[in-house]
Amino acid sequence: MYVPQDIKNFTEEQFVRWLGQYGIAPYRAGQVLRWIYHRGVHSFSEMTDISKGLRNFLSERLAISRPQTEQVQTSKDGSRKYLFRLKDGQHIESVLIPEPGHRTLCISSQVGCGMGCKFCLTGRGGLVRNLEPSEIISQVCAVRDDLQDPSSLTNIVFMGMGEPLANYNSVVQAIRTITANNGLQFSNRRVTLSTAGLAPRIDDLGRDVRVSLAVSLNAADNTTRNKLMPINRTYPIEILLSACRTFPLPSRRTIMFEYVLIAGVNDTPMDAERLAELLRPMRAKINLIPFNPYEGTEFRRPEEGSILSFQKVLLDRHYTAIIRYSKGGDIGAACGQLRAR
Ligand code: SAH
Ligand code: SF4
Repeated sequence: MYVPQDIKNFTEEQFVRWLGQYGIAPYRAGQVLRWIYHRGVHSFSEMTDISKGLRNFLSERLAISRPQTEQVQTSKDGSRKYLFRLKDGQHIESVLIPEPGHRTLCISSQVGCGMGCKFCLTGRGGLVRNLEPSEIISQVCAVRDDLQDPSSLTNIVFMGMGEPLANYNSVVQAIRTITANNGLQFSNRRVTLSTAGLAPRIDDLGRDVRVSLAVSLNAADNTTRNKLMPINRTYPIEILLSACRTFPLPSRRTIMFEYVLIAGVNDTPMDAERLAELLRPMRAKINLIPFNPYEGTEFRRPEEGSILSFQKVLLDRHYTAIIRYSKGGDIGAACGQLRAR
């Protein structure tokens, strides 16, 4: 059977080229994409300012895919977890997080994750597969469709399942559409990619697109980081930070360093001092994420007192250091709790 291409896998530029093969004018690309991304239509037949002939032509060759929303769970803190079923039966999750005045959507880039970080539930099952650009973009489209006020969704973070830089091409392609004028029109300052630290890909990313960057550091010395995050043996802290230092951020942005606080592993005031020292040459903000426990893990969240003392060391050294109590813990939507069913 002939499987039509998914139109959401094209950037505008690629779609222009695709149309060009059939002698169709370039301006048609923007026209079609605006129907899809601005008006949210699900079929070519709804695009009423396009001739019937062209609509039929497109619908015979291209699909406008939609993932199936299998479940939506709402947490008592207001965050919502969406479970999507993909065309091959795999599942991914996205989490909508309410914040004062706006909302942030945390999206997935892979089914599972191959990075094997010891503290992360998503990493436990390994990588199942990469997502296509359309599957990344559709998470945003589906959640926006579900909102009473779609414009309240202002921020996108690649902090769901998967390591975005390990699915580089699809993620960059998706970012292009998410930030494009004839796409989802998110400001590039409000799209944040979080990585476990694939240093060479951080360089590539800075060259290819403009987005905000978050780095999951989680330890301030290589011995500890090696134990927690196997990727550190390939790209140790010095290499990672040197890629961060040259990363071209959108204006007025700083790099966000995430640090999961784990009792007895990386949570002493001494660790905090090392962290402060390490990040001194950079424009950096620090998110402290108290470890979210799940069944079968040997790690524990530190006592409240240790979390606050850790933060105090950083504040005393003039860092912006915020403790992020993950939302959605009661519905398995907190940082590091997402997994493919
Ligand atoms: N793979 C990317 C994107 C996922 S972001 C990355 O790792 O950056 C997921 C975030 O949740 C990461 O900052 C990770 O350090 C954090 N995390 C993972 N497991 C966690 C857990 N059990 N408790 C708290 N945070 C966790
Ligand atoms: Fe993958 Fe990020 Fe989890 Fe590490 S923390 S296993 S990179 S999702």
